[in-house]
Amino acid sequence: MASQGAVIGAGPCGLAQLHAFEEARRAGAEVPQIACFEQQSDWGGLWNYTWRTGLDEHGDPVHGSMYRYLWSNGPKECLEFADYTFDEHFGQPIPSFPPREVLYDYITGRAKTNNVRQFIQFNTAVRWISYDEKAGKFAVTVQTRDDGQTRTEEFDKVIVATGHFSTPNMPSFEGFDQFPGRIMHSHDFRDAQEFAGKRLLVIGSSYSAEDIALQSKKYGAHSVTVSYRTQPMGFPWPAGIDEVPLLSKVDGSTAHFADGTARDVDAIVLCTGYQHSFRFISDELRLRTANVLYPGNLYKGVFWLGNPDLMYLGMQDQYYTFTMFDTQAWYARDYVLGRISLPSHEEMAAEPDLAALARGDGRRHRALARPAGRVRGAVRRDRLPGQLPGGPP
Ligand SMILES: Cc1cc2nc3c(=O)[nH]c(=O)nc-3n(C[C@H](O)[C@H](O)[C@H](O)COP(=O)(O)OP(=O)(O)OC[C@H]3O[C@@H](n4cnc5c(N)ncnc54)[C@H](O)[C@@H]3O)c2cc1C
Repeated sequence: MASQGAVIGAGPCGLAQLHAFEEARRAGAEVPQIACFEQQSDWGGLWNYTWRTGLDEHGDPVHGSMYRYLWSNGPKECLEFADYTFDEHFGQPIPSFPPREVLYDYITGRAKTNNVRQFIQFNTAVRWISYDEKAGKFAVTVQTRDDGQTRTEEFDKVIVATGHFSTPNMPSFEGFDQFPGRIMHSHDFRDAQEFAGKRLLVIGSSYSAEDIALQSKKYGAHSVTVSYRTQPMGFPWPAGIDEVPLLSKVDGSTAHFADGTARDVDAIVLCTGYQHSFRFISDELRLRTANVLYPGNLYKGVFWLGNPDLMYLGMQDQYYTFTMFDTQAWYARDYVLGRISLPSHEEMAAEPDLAALARGDGRRHRALARPAGRVRGAVRRDRLPGQLPGGPP
């Protein structure tokens, strides 16, 4: 039997989806054949840490954005799977803010318990997805990266779980081309010790900026200057870290800021967020959004309005991560299994315009959600340089 459902990506979202299907199958449901395509050689998505930056061993952009000493920035209690607790996994209570490896162990631990690995084709990148109206099916072209072979398979349903914290949003500033030190995006940040003894400039005022500034100081940076666009984070920073308005230009190694001040720096880290990038999806199916709570054109945040047999998981700005991914995965599964039906296109399109709501009322949403912690990859649209890929359609 041909595979009927494709899951793209075996990060936390893709694993949540496979888990949801497998749970239903074990409970007696008839589940269509599912194929999961994962471009990396192992599962876990961003949590599958890599030392690599730039291009990977096959010449594709490195997916990973996490760094060696990353710790969870939200309490684990807000991430806990409803059906697989931290206590159950570790056999004892653990602290609320675990390091990266511990979360990786937890995420993949649940996936091991029901053996969803059997559904994953590793080292297999999806290169193109389109929809054949006549056949009523999606054509998914994949490439096995070891031998470079491509093939196209047909699917009734496609679930995109490829994440959105991998393609850097990279603004440029006057003088960057002549700057004598290192300029990098936080996507390529791996180890703060690189900046020991250096005067570091961090651009951005979201969680990446906060964490990278603190880590770099802790691991020996001489000083850290954090440059914000709209407003400072305003924390009582330790000695050696301070905030200044947005960078206006660099002249040699001297950074000039919007308030007219200037200081010399040795290295610059752009914590300027990420783009939702789906180059492997045809135009009419491709989600185009900035990092917001309610991306447009997704019914209930999951179903592509133009063709709800295409689903996207985890495309929202993220506060509650794994819990949200599970909820979306259960919803998508129940649609694929025919347990729920979706309203007509008109009714789905007539849903309250949540994208507009988020735009108009974003601050209130942020304020409500903040206690759970936001991810470091997240972009504050109101705070960072204006080169974001555009607002929700
Ligand atoms: C620096 C950083 C720190 C973070 N810290 C936290 C934190 O402390 N707590 C927290 O809860 N969240 C954190 N996050 C958020 C993180 O996004 C989520 O925890 C989670 O990893 C998202 O899961 P995902 O499956 O949607 O995406 P990802 O984890 O990005 O996984 C996507 C998977 O899809 C695969 N893929 C992509 N394109 C293709 C393709 N074309 N073909 C085949 N496979 C493909 C990738 O290889 C990857 O395995 C952080 C993010 C970043 C960047």
